[in-house]
Amino acid sequence: METPGNLFCVAAPSGTGKSSLVKALLELDSRLAVSVSHTTRKPRGQEVDGREYHFITEPEFRAMVAHGDFFEHAEVHGNLYGTSRKAIEARLTDGQDVVLEIDWQGALQIKRLFPHAVLIFILPPSWGELMQRLDRRGEDTPEVIATRMANARTEVAQARHFDFVIINSLFETALFDLKTVVHSQRLKYAAQQRNRSQVFAALGLA
Ligand code: 5GP
Repeated sequence: METPGNLFCVAAPSGTGKSSLVKALLELDSRLAVSVSHTTRKPRGQEVDGREYHFITEPEFRAMVAHGDFFEHAEVHGNLYGTSRKAIEARLTDGQDVVLEIDWQGALQIKRLFPHAVLIFILPPSWGELMQRLDRRGEDTPEVIATRMANARTEVAQARHFDFVIINSLFETALFDLKTVVHSQRLKYAAQQRNRSQVFAALGLA
């Protein structure tokens, strides 16, 4: 499906700093909107229904799958997650840019549906550093951390299918890299032709 808006998918193993990077990017870039996913996971801490996620039950999720309401969906760490058509379709056809913060399985599904989607994988600088970051968060038990580390190895192996790879060694550098990818995408011929149609027309490039 071709849309006027640019679509970015950001994936990474947990503990890599993906959410903080996407949050900082959104604060800097008013042309970018984040998609709110549906999940069967229970809300954590300060999470609000409709803000971080639409929290639904598994039967509700399965019904949405059956109705074809999702562009992509996947099971991640034992819970179901999905990007609804409603969450992004109108924005993209309106010409707005959207970022999806989803796992690698979802990102690959999105690429099949939207070949112009830009897939960005965030890598940790090393396994040791990822382990330390998960430990420092203090959110998880040693067993959960061990599971996340094992999952991270499977997830990282998928980075080769992505268009861009950003190594989050230094937050500011990784943020700069992320901004650069978004900016470069907007400078592509088709995107410029779409967004600067008057200039193109005046130059006889319509
Ligand atoms: P968390 O439960 O920690 O918020 O997210 C767990 C994982 O699910 C993260 O990798 C997150 O990016 C991913 N995720 C969140 N929303 C979606 C979605 O709509 N689709 C897919 N495939 N993954 C998602």
